[in-house]
Amino acid sequence: MIIVMEAQATPAHIQQVSSKLEEKGFQVHLSQGVERTIIGAIGQKTTTTMELFETLPGVEKVVPIAQPFKMASREFKPDSSLIEVGGQMIGNGQVQIIAGPCAVEGRSKFLEVAHAVKESGATMLRGGAFKPRTSPYAFQGLEHEGLEILAEARQITGLPVVTEIMDPRLVNEVADYVDILQVGARNMQNFFLLRELGKIQRPILLKRGPSATIEEWIMAAEYIISSGNEQVIMCERGIRSFENYTRNTLDLSAVPLIKQLTHLPIIVDPSHGTGKWKLVEPMALAAIGAGADGVMVEVHQNPSEALSDGPQSLTPENFARLVTRVNKMVMALRATEN
Ligand code: PEP
Ligand code: MN
Repeated sequence: MIIVMEAQATPAHIQQVSSKLEEKGFQVHLSQGVERTIIGAIGQKTTTTMELFETLPGVEKVVPIAQPFKMASREFKPDSSLIEVGGQMIGNGQVQIIAGPCAVEGRSKFLEVAHAVKESGATMLRGGAFKPRTSPYAFQGLEHEGLEILAEARQITGLPVVTEIMDPRLVNEVADYVDILQVGARNMQNFFLLRELGKIQRPILLKRGPSATIEEWIMAAEYIISSGNEQVIMCERGIRSFENYTRNTLDLSAVPLIKQLTHLPIIVDPSHGTGKWKLVEPMALAAIGAGADGVMVEVHQNPSEALSDGPQSLTPENFARLVTRVNKMVMALRATEN
């Protein structure tokens, strides 16, 4: 439930409500807005407890949270969450452009593409070190060596780095090397992994499962937040549909929906979302138009020779064009706000 305090409630009133909630076994989360304070309470509520809190001084009203997700919901925390990554902010209106190959294929190749995307205006780097594939005989990623290459690229370029974490046993090791830990679409409901990620204080990029509803996806975020880590960034990457022309169907309505239902930032991945490089730039522009906090795209110096996801990878030249157009889109949108 949420306890909305009156605009003139004093710190003593807020303290009294918080202590009473804790006494009744609730977990308390304060959200101090400009106008008023909202107290989110997680626990077993009954009509009697709600009535009891309504009688306390300084309380305006007590509202039950209708959705199954609580801590991720905008009712619980009306202000949008801002997530800091290497001195940059996600969720404050700045648009992030995360770029890099699907997989880290080798040191010199990764550093080359990292320099190229930085030069064109990428704000963060991506690259997979762990790449288990449909076939156990296909390239599986450079694993530990890949993490070292990512850390080196981050040091040389100064750009924060994102990589996928798959194994709950490797959370601390991966967190030592990169800035954002990505939960892959296939692991969105790996609840043990989500719980482990809730124990670290690091931004988590949570991809939507290929067949996950919006509610299931937000519930996955709720796992991480309720385990102690509030730094969750949602990532729409397309869902399974009857359409075969594209690899997935990019659900851009998820962008405004996530913004309405939660306080979390959202990034769109048009590379996995379409599977076709020619669709990446138009869908990146549409994502920004829909209000996304950024895009994540795959870039490879030679897509035809990429060890994974070549057909959806942009060349550095095409990526440079995407950045120019995304930045123009951002300026056009800002102009409409004035
Ligand atoms: C990736 O980002 O490289 C990836 C594997 O994406 P997804 O989990 O969305 O398929
Ligand atoms: Mn990929």
